[in-house]
Amino acid sequence: MTAMSNIDYLPIDLHCHSYISDGDLSPADVVARAAARGCRLLALTDHDDMSGIPLARAAALDYPNLMLLAGVEVSVTYGQHTLHIVGLDVDIEHPMLQAGLALLRAGRHERAQRMANGLAAVGIMGALEGAKSFAVNPDLIGRVHFARFLIQQGYAKDNQQVFKRYLVPGKPGYTRQQWATLSDALTWITAAGGLAVLAHPARYKMGTDAMKVLLTLFKQFGGSAIEVITSNHTASQVAQFACLAEKFDLMGSVGSDFHSAASGHIGLGGNPALPSFIKPVWARWFDESKL
Ligand code: AMP
Ligand code: MN
Ligand code: MN
Ligand code: MN
Repeated sequence: MTAMSNIDYLPIDLHCHSYISDGDLSPADVVARAAARGCRLLALTDHDDMSGIPLARAAALDYPNLMLLAGVEVSVTYGQHTLHIVGLDVDIEHPMLQAGLALLRAGRHERAQRMANGLAAVGIMGALEGAKSFAVNPDLIGRVHFARFLIQQGYAKDNQQVFKRYLVPGKPGYTRQQWATLSDALTWITAAGGLAVLAHPARYKMGTDAMKVLLTLFKQFGGSAIEVITSNHTASQVAQFACLAEKFDLMGSVGSDFHSAASGHIGLGGNPALPSFIKPVWARWFDESKL
């Protein structure tokens, strides 16, 4: 176990995935890995599904030094963009949140059929069944499951290549999807008592003006924080989103977006600290001064 008292490195990870969505590990193994790496505060945030939380909670009983938050990463359509909003410390029994996520999962089933049709049109048969065979949770099918099938069939050598060739806009396995509206996603999360975080903000390929419009709406609809620290952020992106968080009076969050140990991902142990002028989203659950 790594003891982390260094203030530049926080044993906190508020964004990660298990095989309940498109990660590799079971919820219990996510918790065990985080604990083994010295993590003290962890949120399991699977895409559009909370059924991993009870499993993660059961596993967390073995690790008294690790606090587990119930989380979820909600898929949102915002204009031409797909956004991801992480809900932290949600009530997993909340009917509105449950119903909203059930709708998104139903949409994923329909989308998977359309994706398979698109792949069949270029001669790739059996993709729906193939993708399903890689999904541990039959109710949550996503692009990563298609990616695994396509790689297994030899259509690409790795994840990066398979997305580029088949699974992004303009490619045969991609189809537009209507996810939740921004306002609905924020309503579901906040109604369920959670704090809403704009996940990996640099991925949205928006100019600063568009990002400011988004943050204005996000805040208006009840959003609480921006993921200032995420594994693909450069130092200048950390600075940029810290600055925006301050400007919009939003808190900062940190999350690895861990999906798989196989990718060499170092996530789940902790994350770099937030710039000191940013209010941490975790203050309500975790007192850093006790580290
Ligand atoms: P979905 O919600 O089904 O559209 O799948 C989105 C997931 O696909 C993300 O959460 C990532 O896990 C993965 N993903 C998206 N884009 C890429 C990419 N370019 N390379 C590798 N994985 C990706
Ligand atoms: Mn994912
Ligand atoms: Mn995401
Ligand atoms: Mn994620």
